Amino acid sequence: MSQKPLERENRELKRTIRLMASKAERNDAIIKSFFDMELKLLSCTRLSDLLDLLLIEFKEYFRLNAVSLILFDPEQAARLLLDDYVPPPPANSLRFVKDQRLLSFFHPNKRLSVGELPGGMRPELFNNNQQIQSCALLPLIRDNCLIGSLHLGSHDPNRYSKQFHYDYIQHLASVISICIENSIIQENLRRLSTIDMLTRVRNRRAFDNEILQELSRAVRGNQPLGCVFIDLDYFKLVNDNYGHQTGDRVLRATGTFLKNQLRKTDVIARYGGEEFALLLPDCDQTQSMQVADTLRERFSQLVFKADDGTAFRMSASIGVTTYQPDGSITEDFTPLSYRLIQLADQAVYDAKSRGRNRVIYIPYSEKGVASTPVTAATPLIDGKIA
Ligand code: GH3
Ligand code: MG
Ligand code: MG
Repeated sequence: MSQKPLERENRELKRTIRLMASKAERNDAIIKSFFDMELKLLSCTRLSDLLDLLLIEFKEYFRLNAVSLILFDPEQAARLLLDDYVPPPPANSLRFVKDQRLLSFFHPNKRLSVGELPGGMRPELFNNNQQIQSCALLPLIRDNCLIGSLHLGSHDPNRYSKQFHYDYIQHLASVISICIENSIIQENLRRLSTIDMLTRVRNRRAFDNEILQELSRAVRGNQPLGCVFIDLDYFKLVNDNYGHQTGDRVLRATGTFLKNQLRKTDVIARYGGEEFALLLPDCDQTQSMQVADTLRERFSQLVFKADDGTAFRMSASIGVTTYQPDGSITEDFTPLSYRLIQLADQAVYDAKSRGRNRVIYIPYSEKGVASTPVTAATPLIDGKIA
């Protein structure tokens, strides 16, 4: 054999090896990117973080043109956990569905579906985006049940094609399913331990924890902290006259009312049966009193409906105190928190004994009997059920 053909053959072989090596490197990079994303997914404990990862980061990370998610949520359990989470645009990037009609493209084998968009699904899956030319629709499955679907869309018609295998995407779909289920369970546990299930504001335990954090923040920032206690007037009469269910509705409506009236940074808690406690960061005496009196007045204007259709109004007695950091350094805020709660509670007691439907302020003092309360507002409905 002459040397020439051998050299040619070697050149060909070397070129093939180089091509194969670069393909192996590319595959390695793809495997690594999937592996890194898997770690990111597994490290999410908040459902909102997981959704942001899927709907925002996924898009950039995998260079996609659209991502959307449908979660099968018949009881609205997941949706309620999200409170004020706002999904990224476009509209419908995240949907909670009560029935599996929208997920029917996976039946019967519940396998990953790639290629062109299934007929008629463009509006449902990609907000009618006409530029999406190919897609991967990932069924999210737990215990052999479809819990949702993730949709990856690309302008490139060849990005997702039936000719190729997408084992990694299939694997990622399994990881995502576990992560979604896990974060819902974690979120639920967090809720159960900190949220009052009737009113959906924080419970007493969470408030006792929050007040320590808010005091610490107030001291660090040298800002005042308002502490407000609210006790509904003659609430027992609501139960007695209209039944416990109506009483529950009043409590629920009070929770919603407070959430709607206050800032996101304020802490709202149900401290006891018909008692609510608030923390108002960066509010001094004047501001806290203003907030409390506005709440009192607006609350007294709410109209509640009993089961039998009777309309009635309520009033509330409100106690206010504020803490103004004085430069002293404290490690343990527990005694301070007890004192604030005690003073706000004392102020509610004073408001009750002075005729209800009013706001009483007691200035902060370290110990001893609380000094003379300051009163605000005249009773509107004289504490009687209207
Ligand atoms: P006051 O103006 O002095 O505050 O009178 P009140 O009737 O509001 O206060 P009282 O402490 O006498 O009664 C509170 C009632 O709240 C008694 C209790 O049965 C009721 N209550 C406590 N928790 C709940 C609840 O979760 N649901 C309902 N419906 N009632 C509750
Ligand atoms: Mg009470
Ligand atoms: Mg009461």
